Amino acid sequence: MSVFREDILQGRVAVVTGGATGIGSEIARTLGRHGARVCICSRKSGNLEKAAVDLEADGIECLWLVCDIRLPDQVQHVLDEVLARWGRLDILVNNAAGNFPAPLSRISPKGFKTVVDIDLLGTYNCSKLAFEAWLRDHGGDIVNISAPFEGKGAALQAHVAAAKAGVDSLTRTCAVEWGRHGVRVNGVMPGPIADTEGVERFDAAIGASGGSSVPLGREGARSEIASVVLFLVSEAASYVSGQVFAVDGASTVDQLGMASRLAELEAAWPER
Ligand code: NAP
Repeated sequence: MSVFREDILQGRVAVVTGGATGIGSEIARTLGRHGARVCICSRKSGNLEKAAVDLEADGIECLWLVCDIRLPDQVQHVLDEVLARWGRLDILVNNAAGNFPAPLSRISPKGFKTVVDIDLLGTYNCSKLAFEAWLRDHGGDIVNISAPFEGKGAALQAHVAAAKAGVDSLTRTCAVEWGRHGVRVNGVMPGPIADTEGVERFDAAIGASGGSSVPLGREGARSEIASVVLFLVSEAASYVSGQVFAVDGASTVDQLGMASRLAELEAAWPER
């Protein structure tokens, strides 16, 4: 059940990159359930086709297109198709990303470049081309999905952390440069989100599970990221731009990483 009125995005058109799986599929569903027509794009047609069937079963008008966001021609094709089909483009969610956990000493130049190309260059490609194709003249909303590594070292995530720091920087710069065109640009940094391949892969690599280190005591749900994206593209956020929001159960602000030990420490602490 959504706390938002179900028609708040009525008449609007959204593109969600990586919208066939994980967090992206929930973002696509949430935007669609609130009235938007949604295009999902990524590389694997099988995933896209299946996701589109699910969205349509939910009553959502949907278009799926194969696209590697590293390639500007393919991104342009998506935008052309969306504009040909629906005649507008109001919302771009840059969600697609690549990831594999590894220590920096084990990441090859090719592996590092691949992640930077997908996460950072892909976000640039989609944002820039969407701006030229529609947003420059009509305004609209961009939400970039990054990760909560800002200002920190991120073991086993050097490539992702570097790329996502670039994405957050792009969020702020696009907001500044494109604000006068009525384009709002914001970011969301998800904490560990349950039922996603990324978290499963990371937990398997380090032999951990669950959200015990998260101050809220659990992993997030995909819907908890999608609802923040929905807020950001809604009228409720009409004066919000250039901000990057951690949606991570307070993990980012747990400077000392004490959350998982607090109950035990507090119980043994002498009264003073
Ligand atoms: P996911 O399920 O692995 O989804 C990534 C999507 O990106 C896939 O649909 C994939 O589809 C697409 N993609 C990858 N490379 C692409 C390319 N070159 N061109 C077009 N599409 C491409 O990931 P997720 O866990 O839901 O994560 C979604 C977002 O949240 C990512 O930006 C991730 O960094 C961020 N995030 C996730 C978590 C988490 O807990 N899961 C935490 C922090 C941040 P194809 O393979 O078919 O192309």
